[in-house]
Amino acid sequence: MSDKQEFTFQTEIKQLLHILSHSLYQNPEIALRELISNASDSLNKLRHIRLTDEKHRGDDALEITLEPDKDAKMLVIRDTGLGLTHDELVENLGTIAHSGSKDFLRSLASSAKAGGGEADLSLIGQFGVGFYSAFMLADKVEVVTRSYREDKGWRWESDGSGRFTITPAEGDVPRGAQIRLHLKEDREDYLEPHRLKSIVRKYSTFVPFPIRLADETLNEQKPIWVEPKNQVTDEQHAAFYQWLTHRTDEKPLWRLQLSSDSPIQFHSILYCPPSNFELLGFGAIEHGVNLCAKRVLVQDDCRDLLPDYLRFLYGVVDSADLPLNVSRETLQDHKLLPKLKRVLTKKVLDHLATLADEESGTFTTFYQQFGPILRTGIGHDFENRERIAKLMRFHSTFTAAESQIVGAGPKPTDPTVSLDAYLKRAAEGQTQIYYLSGPDLAALSRHPHLEAFRKRNLEVLFLNDPIDEFALTQLHQYEQKQLISIDSADVKFPDSTKPADEAERAAAPKNFTRVVELFRGALDGKAADVRESSRLTDSPCCLVNVQGTMSSQLQNVMRHTMKEFEAPKRVLELNPHAPLVARLCELAANADNDDFIRDCGRQLYANAQILDGLVPDVEETTSRTLKFMEELSRTRSAIVT
Ligand code: ADP
Repeated sequence: MSDKQEFTFQTEIKQLLHILSHSLYQNPEIALRELISNASDSLNKLRHIRLTDEKHRGDDALEITLEPDKDAKMLVIRDTGLGLTHDELVENLGTIAHSGSKDFLRSLASSAKAGGGEADLSLIGQFGVGFYSAFMLADKVEVVTRSYREDKGWRWESDGSGRFTITPAEGDVPRGAQIRLHLKEDREDYLEPHRLKSIVRKYSTFVPFPIRLADETLNEQKPIWVEPKNQVTDEQHAAFYQWLTHRTDEKPLWRLQLSSDSPIQFHSILYCPPSNFELLGFGAIEHGVNLCAKRVLVQDDCRDLLPDYLRFLYGVVDSADLPLNVSRETLQDHKLLPKLKRVLTKKVLDHLATLADEESGTFTTFYQQFGPILRTGIGHDFENRERIAKLMRFHSTFTAAESQIVGAGPKPTDPTVSLDAYLKRAAEGQTQIYYLSGPDLAALSRHPHLEAFRKRNLEVLFLNDPIDEFALTQLHQYEQKQLISIDSADVKFPDSTKPADEAERAAAPKNFTRVVELFRGALDGKAADVRESSRLTDSPCCLVNVQGTMSSQLQNVMRHTMKEFEAPKRVLELNPHAPLVARLCELAANADNDDFIRDCGRQLYANAQILDGLVPDVEETTSRTLKFMEELSRTRSAIVT
């Protein structure tokens, strides 16, 4: 009598096998991943048993071997793990134990309902369908196995059509399992070493047991992220970094190795590259952090682990709380991911703050390279925006850049200043953090608005990247101090900084209010208001922004990016002591001059617009200057004396 026993698969498995072996859509690479991961699980279990049960101590190698046999057109995946008993074969490879397979079938059924009977087969790739995925590669699968608890081995065999057989295996069967795939004709590429290597590198590099092919170990990389921090060398980090980034001969600028047991369990290593390709004109960097569950890759370049403004980091996050078979789709809904993201984001930002304190050189390089990306976070991450703001660095009227440009005054050594450092040296009673934005530092440092601040020895931050101003506008305040553009009408000077000569400054001349009134009338509908200025010393007037509106620089950016952009009206500030204004005050005594004064108001407004990079009403302005010149030329004499 034959020892052969025949079994029928559970109905659900029959369905699954039918789909796996017949569907046209297939990513058979995942089959190898699943089989290697089963082997790895089995090795893990055996390792555990060896550690806990004296009876099963042993020190033979725990490993996975890939054995392509070109003549037989067979690929064997062999492991030295637990192996299976007869009953385990019936139980585990005959019923649907695997939760991924169950989910797959369930979603297939619902997609069939939704799609009017048509099942969505692309779901196969998204669910880890476990052992049965072997039938994507093979038209016949044999499992030759011996359990660590038994002396005899078994052979399980099926062609995936609904039945399987189990027979006692002949000869000595080594402990563990061999999955023998009799490859389908169009899958013979799975016999090619280079094909196998690339799949293993892609999906299984971090499997914690060696995966061998002939004499080669394909997964060179150790899961260094689960090691204690002090046991991982710089060389190992460099090698891992290079594997992750494909950037050979490069070392990470900094790294962050994290481990946590609660509230979520995870191990992680994050690396920051030394340079930002985005600055070189390459497109946006893709996320580069791999998500692993128990050392097996679940998703590479996972976008859900870090916010976009930290997309430049590479690394791995490994959590035992994550099921291995989680699919890309279900991963997005997995409640663990947002939690991981939150913890990782906070840790990275804290690490950067420490770096700024303890390794300022590294931090400076980091900020030069990745500051532009990091800063965008202020607009998007409400929870962490103060943390990001703390990391921002600025040029200012007190930093080295300024002293180089202006070439005078004290020579500060700090190339940049942080908001914290700014506040530390702020004037007594200063309630605002002043900034000025514009396209380049040289132009910024010569801006007329700075006159008053220099006189009072008040530091003004230079924002020469529009992102900076967007960021600070979003932030609105820092450490309870209002962030304010110095072209805003609401700039306040602390009393403690009043310049000595200010007290002696004469009151506005007689009739100044009348000039202001005439200007207001002339600029009705154009300027938001006309007011006396306390900030101007030489110039007759300037335009300032009303509280809550954008700075001039930001308005320029908006104008260039948005066709429909309507600039908010600004306030015209008048300096009563400028010679022209003082003279207009005298002329205001005679109502006959009203029209002339109004025209001067309109022209001063146009001049201020030009100074701010705006285009005034061209026709009106040119005809008015023509009128002024005609009038002036009439007062001149043609008589040669
Ligand atoms: P899962 O691995 O998610 O449980 P599978 O369908 O891949 O689902 O496998 C079903 C079961 O078969 C496993 O749980 C395991 O008990 C057993 N098994 C599969 N491969 C091996 C192997 N290489 N060695 C030992 N047992 C295995």
